[in-house]
Amino acid sequence: MMTQYEIVVGLETHIQLNTETKIFCSCKADSWGAEPNTNICPVCSGLPGVLPVLNAEAVQKAALLAAAMHAEINPVSYFDRKNYFYPDLPKGYQITQFDEPIGKGGYLDVHMPDGSTRRVHIHKLHLEEDAGKTKIEAGRRLVDFNRCGVPLVEMVTEPELHSGEEAAQYLTELRQLLRWIGVSEADMERGHLRCDANVSIREAGSTVLNTKTEIKNMNSIESIRQAITLEAQRQIAAVEAGERVESYTLDWDADTGTLRKMRSKETEADYRYFREPDLLPVKLSEEEIARIESSLPELPYARKMRFIAEYQLSAYDADILTSERSLADYFEETVRLSSAAPKTVSNWMMNDLLRLMNDLGKSASELRLRPAELAEIIDLVESGKISPATGKALLRKVEESGRKPSEIVTAEGLGLIGDEDALRSQIAAVLSESPSEVANFKAGKESLLGWFVGQVMRRTGGKADPKRTRELLLEILRK
Ligand code: ZN
Ligand code: MN
Repeated sequence: MMTQYEIVVGLETHIQLNTETKIFCSCKADSWGAEPNTNICPVCSGLPGVLPVLNAEAVQKAALLAAAMHAEINPVSYFDRKNYFYPDLPKGYQITQFDEPIGKGGYLDVHMPDGSTRRVHIHKLHLEEDAGKTKIEAGRRLVDFNRCGVPLVEMVTEPELHSGEEAAQYLTELRQLLRWIGVSEADMERGHLRCDANVSIREAGSTVLNTKTEIKNMNSIESIRQAITLEAQRQIAAVEAGERVESYTLDWDADTGTLRKMRSKETEADYRYFREPDLLPVKLSEEEIARIESSLPELPYARKMRFIAEYQLSAYDADILTSERSLADYFEETVRLSSAAPKTVSNWMMNDLLRLMNDLGKSASELRLRPAELAEIIDLVESGKISPATGKALLRKVEESGRKPSEIVTAEGLGLIGDEDALRSQIAAVLSESPSEVANFKAGKESLLGWFVGQVMRRTGGKADPKRTRELLLEILRK
């Protein structure tokens, strides 16, 4: 009988908090694209005789993230020194949290495309400082300390994911959550969200944890999906061939889609952790913890389910409209201001507003076209004052000019012609140009009605009120 294997995956993520300044000094936290070593000071570059000062914003954001992960916020947490030598670490130690971190426990529910949910528990959630970066150029190793002291939350899951697919979905939902609660830009390409994966295999049904390998340097969700899938296949093939899986670190090469062996792993004991003597314990009062927990917004999945129940949206629409918080807010505000059905608002957003956002590269909150203007446009179309095509064109005109939709309609004469005399004269002109069609209609070919409506539309540049035109045509032709 063929052995069935289960893949066991745990993820270690590093999340860059979007604070103004670094975690222990007043250097800017985000120096993406800056010249090397231009965003540093004596504190973050590890000069002797300086003292770290804890950034309160980093603590608040880490605590909010802990709350969003359903973790317990620790009322007293500590910083520790993790000692190791590496050229990108000028102090010779990293300030991190070891045994009393800011968050305890917690989980993230991962919603798979087949409708199943997997609850992934959090093993570790703590604050720490980032290290610098090194690179090799022309045979020399160069070091850039700009990233030293950038505030990070390290979050490690229990080994509760079981495929590359599930790991990718975990990261997708985590990234959405981080942006949703506003603690990180979570841009993987810029290193705001970094992920390493521990991968092992076991016989299906077994609960043992076998020797794992660690995959590093995956900087996209697609890389995570591919690298884990590939490594699990390699381990299965090795075991099937009678070999053992050895513990080592693998480097993912996105260009070739392959894994390369890097080095064997050091263990935790090597780091000789001890309490950071230059920092006080981090204390959060009961009131502060309660305030942080109650400031948590409705989370993405809950909001999606509410959109389906409250506005009768399809799961597909609700999923897209809750992909970002600003988009979800935009939708609900438009629904509130418009007299149209929520489904109608959803259609406008899904078809037209998202296209506009995409064309302009703007998020919902960056648009000049606010929910009040979108609601006005939808209502103008729904009440027959302008045609749907005019409404769609108005989105861009309002966005570009910043003017009110009704103002543009008046100024550019975009309103539908509903005036009876005006419509009758247009209809008369169409009928006199088409005697044979009129004769055919009168001989019983009433399907020509649509063609006549189309001709009136063409003459009026699409501004004839289609409903009224139809009624008048029938009245005149049937006489
Ligand atoms: Zn600094
Ligand atoms: Mn770390």
